[in-house]
Amino acid sequence: MEKLVITVATTGAVTSRKEHPEIPLHPGEIAESVYEAYRAGAAVAHIHVRDDAGDPSMSLDKFRETVELVREKCDIILNLTTSGGRGLPLTDEDRFAHLALKPEMCSMDCGTMNFGERIFSNSPQFLRKLGKAALAAGVKPEIEVFDTAFITNALRLAQEGCLAEPLHFQFVLGVRGGMDATPENLLFLLRQVPAGSTWSVIGIGKGHLPLSAMALHMGGHVRVGMEDNVLYRRRTPVKNNAQFVERIVRLAEEFERPVATVAEARKILGLA
Ligand code: ZN
Repeated sequence: MEKLVITVATTGAVTSRKEHPEIPLHPGEIAESVYEAYRAGAAVAHIHVRDDAGDPSMSLDKFRETVELVREKCDIILNLTTSGGRGLPLTDEDRFAHLALKPEMCSMDCGTMNFGERIFSNSPQFLRKLGKAALAAGVKPEIEVFDTAFITNALRLAQEGCLAEPLHFQFVLGVRGGMDATPENLLFLLRQVPAGSTWSVIGIGKGHLPLSAMALHMGGHVRVGMEDNVLYRRRTPVKNNAQFVERIVRLAEEFERPVATVAEARKILGLA
């Protein structure tokens, strides 16, 4: 079994200081939180940025500042979001302009869905453009799967030459509007990904630990962080992003699943 790749998602687009007073929102805070998670064992950092008020943003300047600050501290693999921002008037191209910063990975949400109270829009045209832009920039997409058809869509994009195999899937289970974070759902999804793919799982809410444990046992990888969860356990807010990473590292030790270094994660994920 491959070593375990831990991704940290420090910030996301939706969590506010009301939900967690310590969530890192500004470039310096994000870089510091990524670095703490890296020291705890994370090999990949999934990055969102916010504007000065802490609202969702796809500002190229904010991404550049954040990426530079992280790169000054460590060589963690950077995975930049392409999810856009709630209510922002963005073109398709605005959502991947930051591929110019040469991250090694980017997220790619292969379908449209209700996401809480909003519509998370990812049209076929956008996905083709993003896939081609990522191929041209040498950036590996992480295919985020919130529901079954997201896999079918990704396989179709691969057939069209907009995605290069082997594919890397990130199952995001437990979002309101997507599939629930249950073991049955994860098993069902896993049966549909092509052999040779790599996969990781995000359990939102009470499914976080059970699905992480399944990934540890089944050869998958795990994403943790305050983008996905702000509670460490029921009624107990997490202290910081590193605390989530530390718990997965402890669990991995119990499962005798060594944690991948950044260099090992690059090999596992097929990054150049
Ligand atoms: Zn994200």
